[in-house]
Amino acid sequence: MKYLLIIPILVMAGFILPQSDKYESLRQKMVRNQIMDRGVTNNAVLSALSKVPRHLFVPKDYADEAYNDYPLPIGYGQTISQPYIVAYMTEVLKPGRKMKALEIGTGSGYQAAVLAEIVDKVYTIEIVPELAKESSERLKKLEYKNIICKYGDGYKGWSEFAPYDLIVVTAAAETIPQPLIDQLAENGRLVIPVGKPSAVQELILLVKKNGKIEKKRLTFVRFVPFKRL
Ligand code: SAH
Repeated sequence: MKYLLIIPILVMAGFILPQSDKYESLRQKMVRNQIMDRGVTNNAVLSALSKVPRHLFVPKDYADEAYNDYPLPIGYGQTISQPYIVAYMTEVLKPGRKMKALEIGTGSGYQAAVLAEIVDKVYTIEIVPELAKESSERLKKLEYKNIICKYGDGYKGWSEFAPYDLIVVTAAAETIPQPLIDQLAENGRLVIPVGKPSAVQELILLVKKNGKIEKKRLTFVRFVPFKRL
C-alpha cells in the first residue's frame, strides 16, 4: 500500500518523469515564452507548434536543445530554423484547413510537419539528397500521411500539383523564383527570405490578387542560401 502512494508522489515531484513528458513540458514552455509572448496569436499555428515533437527533428545530441530559442544544425551545413521564425512564417501564410501548401527546403521536415497539422496537403522539396531521404523517412515514421516529399531543385516549384494556396521558401534567394510566383493560386500567399547569402536577408510576403502580385516587406532574418542543382 505504501508503494502505491510513493510512486505517484515521485512522478509528481518530477523524479521519474518519462522523456516524452520532459519534452512535452519544454514544448509548452517554448510556445508560451518564445511564440505567444512575441505576438503570434493564430490558434491553429500555436496548437501545431505545441503538438509537433521538435526534439525528433534534430540530431540526437541536440534533442535537449530542440526547444531552445535558436536554430540548430541538422548536418550538411544546413539548419532547422528557430521555433519563433517557423511560427511567424506559418502565421503570415494564414493557413486554412482545406489548403494546399508547397515548401522549398524540407531540411529536417519540421516546418512541413507544422504546416501539415493545419492544412490539407503539404508538398515539399529538398536539394540535399541525404536530407531529402532522412526527412522523408522521419515524416513517414511520425505518420504524416499528408506530406509528399521529393528530392530536387525547388527553383522550378512542383508544377504537377500547382496551384498552391501557400508557398514557403526556407532558404535565402537573391531573387524570387518566377516559377513559384506562377504556381501561386489566386489569393495565394508566398513567404521567402530575399537577400545575399552572407548577409541579413529580408522576409518578403507576396499575395496574388486578381492575377497581380502585392509585395510586403516583413522583417529581417538570416537563412542558409538557396542552392541550384
Ligand atoms: N524548413 C527546414 C529548414 C531547412 S534549412 C526545416 O524545418 O528544418 C533550408 C533547406 O533548404 C536546406 O535543407 C537546404 O538544403 C534547402 N535548399 C536550399 N536550396 C534549395 C533548393 N533550390 N531546392 C530545395 N531545397 C533547397
